[in-house]
Amino acid sequence: MKAVVFKAFQTFPSLEEVDKPTPGPGEVLLKVAGAGCCHSDVSVFRDYTPESGTHSKPPFILGHETSGWVEEVGTGVTGFKKGDAYLVYGPTGCGHCKRCVAGEENYCENMATNKSLAIGLGRDGGMAEYMTVPARNLVPLGDADPIAAAPLADAALTPYHAIKAALPHLQGGGKYALVIGLGGLGQIAIQILKAITGATIIATDMKPEAMAKAEANGAITVKGDENEVANIRKITGGHGVDAAFDFVGIAPTIAAAQAASAIDSRVTIVGIAGGKASYDWYSNPWQQELTSVYWGSMPELHEVAALYRQGLITPEVETYSMDNALDAYHKLVDGKLSKRAVVVPHMGE
Ligand SMILES: [Zn+2]
Ligand SMILES: [Zn+2]
Repeated sequence: MKAVVFKAFQTFPSLEEVDKPTPGPGEVLLKVAGAGCCHSDVSVFRDYTPESGTHSKPPFILGHETSGWVEEVGTGVTGFKKGDAYLVYGPTGCGHCKRCVAGEENYCENMATNKSLAIGLGRDGGMAEYMTVPARNLVPLGDADPIAAAPLADAALTPYHAIKAALPHLQGGGKYALVIGLGGLGQIAIQILKAITGATIIATDMKPEAMAKAEANGAITVKGDENEVANIRKITGGHGVDAAFDFVGIAPTIAAAQAASAIDSRVTIVGIAGGKASYDWYSNPWQQELTSVYWGSMPELHEVAALYRQGLITPEVETYSMDNALDAYHKLVDGKLSKRAVVVPHMGE
């Protein structure tokens, strides 16, 4: 079968002919419906080195936000029907620590000794015609479109987790949420905030097209210029937002999120740009929490799938055939994608 393989550090992935996998005990073989191209793949193949201490060691098949149809089950697996559609929960923890048994494999306590970080990050992912997945990592999609669903596994689960953890700050009426950075994750964050909170959503970016999309998704937008913080505070009647989500994560966006937030607020860094934050008693509003998140839990992915099935979250996708998969990655590297690229290995079948 064809697959997009990350073969060596600091090497662009290649389209290869590889063996079709067989499901091991406890695993399911999926016929891949869709595999999203994520920006963290770029860090994996372009930036990481053997010295980075990463779990995403080549060679392996890329694709950590995937969906597919049951093709075959391994020994010990029951309760699946051939052809049923599932979304794949990516993180692969040890499976037995306190976090893993709660379905929070993204925060596995034994990360240091695990062989891979996730399906598609250290172990073969879904950028292929077929993939194997531990049965417990599969989230049913029912009759919802599995191709457009693929990015939900990361691009919706990550903002969902950040928003769920901030809910206590957004309950009670008259609350404000701020979304900084209106790419794919930021737009889905607005949809999630609208679906599960009653907060007024303020969104900021520098690109007018991204701001227009955010408005269509239900946010009030503020241009990301030098008056950004003052304009956000004005909308909130002066006191600032109750929860801010920074999908960029560079020092200036973190500083803007902090400056635009109220007393007793929560600022979440979601973007992985690695910007540094400053915090002190005089400059930050009292009881302002500053935190970061990484991916989300299995139970949360079931909740994300439910929102998708109800039509409350709709990722914007553009599809690529397997033969054009590398083209999608080139566009991602060059910043030429405005929607999530989803590789569809069985396009036209
Ligand atoms: Zn990702
Ligand atoms: Zn664990």
